[in-house]
Amino acid sequence: MIKFSDVTKAYQTDEPVLAHCSLSVPEGSVYALVGKNGAGKSTLLKLAAGFLCPDYGEIRFQDMPVWENRERVQRDIGSMIDLPVFYEHLSARENLGLHQAYMQTNGNINGILKKVGLTGINDKPVSSFSYGMRQRLAIARALLHEPKLLLLDEPMNGLDPLGVEELRSLFCSLAREGKTLLVSSHILGDIAAMADTVGILSGGSIRREFHMNDYQGAGKELFEKEVLAEMKGDIL
Ligand code: ADP
Repeated sequence: MIKFSDVTKAYQTDEPVLAHCSLSVPEGSVYALVGKNGAGKSTLLKLAAGFLCPDYGEIRFQDMPVWENRERVQRDIGSMIDLPVFYEHLSARENLGLHQAYMQTNGNINGILKKVGLTGINDKPVSSFSYGMRQRLAIARALLHEPKLLLLDEPMNGLDPLGVEELRSLFCSLAREGKTLLVSSHILGDIAAMADTVGILSGGSIRREFHMNDYQGAGKELFEKEVLAEMKGDIL
């Protein structure tokens, strides 16, 4: 669905944030990008969304170069990257309605709100929402135009354990519907439980990939140990 081949990206003249980074996310799978703060996870997601242009290398979405076709590609991608910004004085429905008008689509706003667990909010302004409610609204906005690929940057941040569990089950059901998810986190346990593949981003590239089928049941402990060792740069 989306493929990075040997991608390098630097901001201004700094050391590259990504260097010779390659990864491939098959259609209908959940790929969890794990790395320390500052590892380049958001940068990678912005490149995938066509918000940034790679310095070298290529990113393809369904075999189309992303940057050159970004307007076309963005119709099939839903993203939640960076802190979501809303019209604070408007309700969730009004915010989604405006987004829909902008995207020239007409998804089912009430259905999407229900899907992300934002019910009983009536016409409350977004300014009265908790952090978790804002996260859900941002995910609803990303889903509104029925994208094939979802790019989510730290979606579990700031949620309580119940909220994390609810989002995890939402992401699993989206994957079952056939959507492809590329999700970042700096907290290991958060997304590993729902991912098909976990990629460790370190030193500018995917240092190692874990295929979660290989770590069922008791293998989970070994998985966590191996991931932490990779993140610390230990040789096992
Ligand atoms: P992560 O999402 O893993 O925390 P980021 O992709 O946000 O990592 O950032 C990677 C590095 O790039 C950090 O050192 C950050 O300071 C730097 N960076 C991110 N965005 C910019 C920008 N717009 N201009 C300059 N440096 C940036």
